[in-house]
Amino acid sequence: MAKEYREGRSGAGSGKSRDGKGTQKRTERELQPRAQRGAEKGAGSRSQGGAGKSFAPKNHAEVRRGTALKDQREVGRGTAPKDQRGARRDTSSRTRQEAGPREGRHKLCPVSARCGGCKWINIGYQEQLEAKADRFRRLMEPFCRPEPLIPMEKPAHYRNKVHAAFGEDRRHNAVSGIYEERSHRIVPVDSCLIENQKADEIIVSIRGLLKSFKIRPYNEDTGYGLLRHVLVRVGHATGEIMVVLVLSSPVMPSKNNFVKALRQLHPEITTIVVNVNDRDTSMVLGEREQVIYGRGYIEDRLCGMTFRLSPKSFYQINPAQTQKLYEKAMEYAELTGKETVLDAYCGTGTIGLIAAGKAKEVIGVELNRDAVRDAVSNAKRNGVSNIHFYQNDAGRLLLEMAEQSAKLDVLFMDPPRSGSDEAFLDAAAKIGPEKIIYISCSPETLVRDLEFLKKKGYKAKRCVAVDMFPYTESLEAVVMLSKKSGSSSGKGGERKR
Ligand code: SAH
Repeated sequence: MAKEYREGRSGAGSGKSRDGKGTQKRTERELQPRAQRGAEKGAGSRSQGGAGKSFAPKNHAEVRRGTALKDQREVGRGTAPKDQRGARRDTSSRTRQEAGPREGRHKLCPVSARCGGCKWINIGYQEQLEAKADRFRRLMEPFCRPEPLIPMEKPAHYRNKVHAAFGEDRRHNAVSGIYEERSHRIVPVDSCLIENQKADEIIVSIRGLLKSFKIRPYNEDTGYGLLRHVLVRVGHATGEIMVVLVLSSPVMPSKNNFVKALRQLHPEITTIVVNVNDRDTSMVLGEREQVIYGRGYIEDRLCGMTFRLSPKSFYQINPAQTQKLYEKAMEYAELTGKETVLDAYCGTGTIGLIAAGKAKEVIGVELNRDAVRDAVSNAKRNGVSNIHFYQNDAGRLLLEMAEQSAKLDVLFMDPPRSGSDEAFLDAAAKIGPEKIIYISCSPETLVRDLEFLKKKGYKAKRCVAVDMFPYTESLEAVVMLSKKSGSSSGKGGERKR
């Protein structure tokens, strides 16, 4: 088996295949302009049967069809209203109102068409849920009856990671917002229906400070100017806030005074990091970083564990729903404390760490070295000692385990949008864990992989979809498969709404 990863030292393993550059690359891709992200959609190793099909609710022909989300794990931003003079409006009250689809139509966000993030912005939440449940039921028909879809209680402002591009208008006034779909034009946005409100406020404040500090936004055409992007991450449970200023040069004038002024406006900010991106690139984050205030990272809590988020580390963008998703995964696993568990595609180790308290031992495997490093430090931070991480291709590690006749009771797998691959699934079936808990952000590739596992003798027993990304088509799901024969559990069965 590949050597176990130790902090400060590279682990063994290929580390080269697929998106092997890992979190850094992934994070950058996530932060690319929407158009760019779209271009990368579907870059899986196998074909994606049906991927990209739209499934807008019926009777809403005005909603643009045929456009699947660009990155299911990092859906685009929507935009909340901003009146003509740019003043902020109370989007939360509107959100409460929008239960009836008619009321919300064409009103919720004036720039949704240009942004392209929330394809379902004008559809009532109940209707969105029904459409998602319906789609999931149809996709899962050959395998198992879904349990009722898990909705979001307050389906607004759920994004805990907010990115704003900075530029200038014709009069050289600073503007901040989102890139227009398929372009590098900035659509000015002050507040957005799906973004964390505090993060939006901080971005507006930063824009307001620029003039007095003589900081000019970066101009992509001329290469002049300093501030390219601002990224804000908020700890959902802890309230900690990280601000990342992406600059074109490492020299920031009056850095300390800028920090002071921003902290005066927002004392809730716990850390500020300068990220230097001096390349002519559409990537948001550069390599170099300098912490100019606080610890350089924030922490958040999920399912009783504390996780460290640095500017580049991957973390689900809707923690409230992620908690529900992971709770379901744990419920399905029915761990008793005796099991050997594998967390495949483990990222920063979230699922494995949560499982570790209920299992004998856990192995995590992840291709991305930065993510593995975070996973190791997360294990330390939480005092978890029965977990070991490997930096490797998940399929390769599983194959090695199969060759060594390793024992495995429960396999958690949470692959990227392109799904898993045959090498992985084949090896998994050879090892033959009692249960496979498949967490998916792409129902199409999920179905493809379930088909494969079915042929290998695994049967889907329970499944549920979780609404992680309201106002978008995106669907997250968890499926429990077992080797044992028998009909699907009576606990399933979706209620008629
Ligand atoms: N389970 C984690 C991360 C899921 S995202 C969480 O919930 O936070 C999917 C992860 O799979 C990413 O971290 C990506 O780097 C990793 N990955 C992609 N291809 C892989 C492969 N072939 N082998 C191992 N990990 C891979």
